[in-house]
Amino acid sequence: MPDPKYAIEVRDLRKTYAATGKMQEKQALKGISLQIPTGSIFGLLGPNGAGKSTFINILAGLVKKTSGTAEIWGLDIDAHPRQSRAAIGVVNQEVVADPFFTPFEMLELMAGFYGVPKAERRSVEILTALGLADKKDAYVRQLSGGMKRRLMVAKALVHNPPVLILDEPTAGVDVELRRLMWDYVRELHANGTTVILTTHYLEEAEELCDTIAIVNHGEIIACEPTSKLLSRLDYKTLIITPREPITAIPAELAMHEPKLRPDGTLAITFKTAETGIGRLLEKVRAAGISIADLSTKSPDLEDVFIALTSDKVA
Ligand code: ADP
Repeated sequence: MPDPKYAIEVRDLRKTYAATGKMQEKQALKGISLQIPTGSIFGLLGPNGAGKSTFINILAGLVKKTSGTAEIWGLDIDAHPRQSRAAIGVVNQEVVADPFFTPFEMLELMAGFYGVPKAERRSVEILTALGLADKKDAYVRQLSGGMKRRLMVAKALVHNPPVLILDEPTAGVDVELRRLMWDYVRELHANGTTVILTTHYLEEAEELCDTIAIVNHGEIIACEPTSKLLSRLDYKTLIITPREPITAIPAELAMHEPKLRPDGTLAITFKTAETGIGRLLEKVRAAGISIADLSTKSPDLEDVFIALTSDKVA
């Protein structure tokens, strides 16, 4: 069978969590439609509470959708619950590893759980690919935090799924480990796995994903190739700390609509394609502002939201 065009396809997916105790009813997904092409690294980007985990958990069979349809690898999750789930490996944020098993034993156990015949198991190969070959027979409790995370990825791969879903793969991990995880994700992708990851770091989505969907309050507010999304954000903000307090915006800078901030700094947002920072600094000096310190800031997730939800830019 040829690979399907879309690894995941959902239509008008909705989830309302029922009210419990003091918790009010919560509409976590408000009708999401998405087509995730086979072979992509697809990022689902959004702040905490946006509905990312709910989406992943519906695909994984851990949360029951309220309505809508979902197909994994061309298989409807209602009509083919077992087959569709066999096509995905899901890595959640929690690290659940039995301390008394070795990594090798854990993978063998998982493979058995998925009904992978002994002759087809690839436990050593997977551990090697994730840099855990020399820890194969160590106790899991002896592994570092980063190794445990990689073991979670390994566990999700035992049944050789064509689609790997990573829910916030680098939340709470240090910069070094984050880079390592990114390398693994790229490698898996290079070997033909479709990768879907959720993140609330714009940087992570930007670095890894070829396509990004932005989800907010249970709705997709944008879904487009990463380069296109970023081209909407071709601006930076220059932040200047003046030596002497500024009391009024100088006329020389008026066209850039600078903002005088409560901490006494001056923030000037400029289109990187139109205005060079050198020219801007010349204008600042021409305006008689003596610079004590300066920095620039690139757009972050919050800025993406502002850009996408304001009519001016969209
Ligand atoms: P994200 O993964 O983007 O942080 P979630 O999917 O975890 O978002 O949550 C979406 C919304 O649904 C949040 O408001 C959250 O509080 C709510 N929610 C998540 N799980 C449950 C649950 N089991 N019961 C009730 N509300 C929930």
